[in-house]
Amino acid sequence: MAERHVALVTGSTSGIGESIARRLAADGMHVVVHSGRSRSEGERIAAELGGSYLQADLSDAGTAGAAVAELLHGLGRLDVLINNAAIGWPIAHTDLDAATPEVWRRILEVNLISPWSVAAASAPYLARAGGSIVNISSHAGVRPKGSSVPYAASKAALNHITKLLAVALGPDVRVNAVAPGLVETPMTAAWTDVRDLWLARAPMRRPATPADVADLVAALIANPYVTGEVVLLDGGLNLT
Ligand code: NAD
Repeated sequence: MAERHVALVTGSTSGIGESIARRLAADGMHVVVHSGRSRSEGERIAAELGGSYLQADLSDAGTAGAAVAELLHGLGRLDVLINNAAIGWPIAHTDLDAATPEVWRRILEVNLISPWSVAAASAPYLARAGGSIVNISSHAGVRPKGSSVPYAASKAALNHITKLLAVALGPDVRVNAVAPGLVETPMTAAWTDVRDLWLARAPMRRPATPADVADLVAALIANPYVTGEVVLLDGGLNLT
């Protein structure tokens, strides 16, 4: 069984997930870097962080849950689960026909049902360790915003799962969520109009950095009492 605390960070070869993986490794954890496709990148980051790597496509929740169960059977320990991986799908909220049942199913599978399966596979290990889950949600799950209606609805449901699991898994496992507004990642680099909104209206006058998200995740992991919270990280934009 691993001596160090073990953290699994889904979708950690890029953006926010990579930043969280780097932060938790710097805090002394054995980090399992995960990706669906980019195996060589994942193995490179895992080696750099002294952790390990898991490849699992979250577009099939059953397969993803089984892959995590197999990983944890081998590792024997899990202290922290970060459900970070997700897909966005830009569709105007007014274009109802474009949000087809197929689009709904694909988004819900990756953003909602797979995090559930991964949490289910992780729960017995987290309970033994007195560990915690942090779901990476979005302000789109709290306010009527976001890249598409299915994306926003997937995050709203993830927020509710956060609260339901906090009740179901306490006192052994704490479950929280971070709901960022705009975060500066390669994915959002071209979203200049959204960035302008943050520069003009958010009390903090800037979007978040991936490190801002990682800092909050680390604080939620460290605090032994907070559970069932969905913490907005939007620089105060929701106040305006
Ligand atoms: P990103 O695209 O860099 O990261 C998403 C990760 O999920 C990638 O590593 C990707 O490989 C992984 N992923 C996607 N589909 C997968 C699949 N089928 N199987 C396995 N892995 C899969 O984007 P990001 O901005 O770093 O987003 C990270 C999280 O933060 C997401 O949950 C996103 O919804 C949330 N978020 C981001 C922002 C933002 O402004 N960037 C704002 C609010 C919330």
